[in-house]
Amino acid sequence: MLSKSKYVSGLQCHKRLWLQKHKPQLIPPTDANTQARYDAGNIIGELAQNLFPGGKEVAFPADRDFSPMLEATQDYLEQGVPAIYEAAFQEAGVLVLCDILVPTKGGLDCYEVKSSTKVKDYHLEDASIQYYVLKETGLPVQKMYVMTLNPNYYKEGESLDLEQLFTIHDVTDKVKAKQAAIPDKLEAMKAMLRDSEPQQAIGSHCTNPFACEFINYCWPKLPQPSVFDIPRIGKKAWQLYEAGKVALEDLEPTDLSTKKAQYVERQLKGLDHYEPEVLKQWLEGLEFPLYFLDFETIMPALPLYPETRPYQPHFAVQYSLHILREPKAELEHFEYLANFEHDFRLELAQNLVQQLAKEGTILAYNQSFEMSCLKRLIEWCPEQKDGLAALLPRFKDLIVPFRKDWYYKPAMGGSNSIKSVYPALFPNAEQSYQGLRIADGGAAMQALLSLAEQGLDPHSMEDQALKKDLLSYCQLDTLAMVEIYKELLAVSE
Ligand code: SF4
Repeated sequence: MLSKSKYVSGLQCHKRLWLQKHKPQLIPPTDANTQARYDAGNIIGELAQNLFPGGKEVAFPADRDFSPMLEATQDYLEQGVPAIYEAAFQEAGVLVLCDILVPTKGGLDCYEVKSSTKVKDYHLEDASIQYYVLKETGLPVQKMYVMTLNPNYYKEGESLDLEQLFTIHDVTDKVKAKQAAIPDKLEAMKAMLRDSEPQQAIGSHCTNPFACEFINYCWPKLPQPSVFDIPRIGKKAWQLYEAGKVALEDLEPTDLSTKKAQYVERQLKGLDHYEPEVLKQWLEGLEFPLYFLDFETIMPALPLYPETRPYQPHFAVQYSLHILREPKAELEHFEYLANFEHDFRLELAQNLVQQLAKEGTILAYNQSFEMSCLKRLIEWCPEQKDGLAALLPRFKDLIVPFRKDWYYKPAMGGSNSIKSVYPALFPNAEQSYQGLRIADGGAAMQALLSLAEQGLDPHSMEDQALKKDLLSYCQLDTLAMVEIYKELLAVSE
């Protein structure tokens, strides 16, 4: 028996489907980020049900025996309930669960709820196999819909407007166009599953549309660095790999663009590169006091605060600020982390305006992010509009010397990200993140999101420890910026 998700796995790669069926022990445990995505998806699915009130939910079986689900679905169909949530059908060796099934005058409409903001190709495959099974069952399916979050919906007040939160896309015609090919695809998958483990070369399909859970099993140990480590190499890496060029030593100068070939040459020869004169000019353009600023943000799937939208970008909830008032002055540190008990945005804006004062260069690493966060705050906090807007022209980007190639070390691996640059300049730097549960931006965002959704409990030791780690993590980022600045200064002199 195939499930809808297994069918979609099989479309990505037959071997992936085979391994899921025959070697499930190779599947790594679900990590916290993935689990958080699943949880958000479940909440969104339940919210969508509210748009079809009075329905009956088919309970998911604890023992994975789906017969009771199939029977309950038939009962609800016969009772003529206004909607069935998680309706189960099985036909042609495939089991599908429909998020929301709605009886209409002419037959049945099926709604698939997705937590993305647009319909993706694999959503259509997913809806197509549902339509196929429903039709094979003999049901009069009229319409197939995919429901996504509406990226243009802005929350007003405290509650969500569900009519506005969701966008309903009619995908019936697209789904019908895929029907003719499904029987052959199903037959091929079933035959493959009866056979021994299929041979399948690795390729770009291993990460598209999903990062395959069997990469550690299938992929050979690659040399370090390999063609996959070349910055911004994209699909070209696969062309090189398929041509037998995996290690950087395997490459010819004509294999790559000038910039990438330069990266390879520097890596192979271990060449550092500095341009002290240009660095000096750039550094002379900075005005004391120097403010080193870094924001941490959240992107909640469902808007948490008024005037925010699904997956609201540039929503700052925390910052770290180091201030160097004069070249030899002692470093000062300020920080902010929302307590999430109330709408904190004005408080955050006021603190920023006060601490960043009226003069001096504000250094960010990849400034467009920090500036976008400030622009969002300007929209949300009209009381602080002038003070916040006055900060924008004072920004300078600490990534520029690396992006412009005025400073390069092979240990940067061709990346300008602060997470590559800092350890390359200070090889012991990674030790400073050790012992923290928050070791990267993704973990910080996930931790902040869980605090934002559940609140920060001042009496919970767990919450207080998390808060401490978040503050330490963000502080390390601005401290890294200060040290990078000092290193650039040293090289330029
Ligand atoms: S890692 Fe690639 S080849 Fe292996 S099962 Fe996954 S998608 Fe298929």
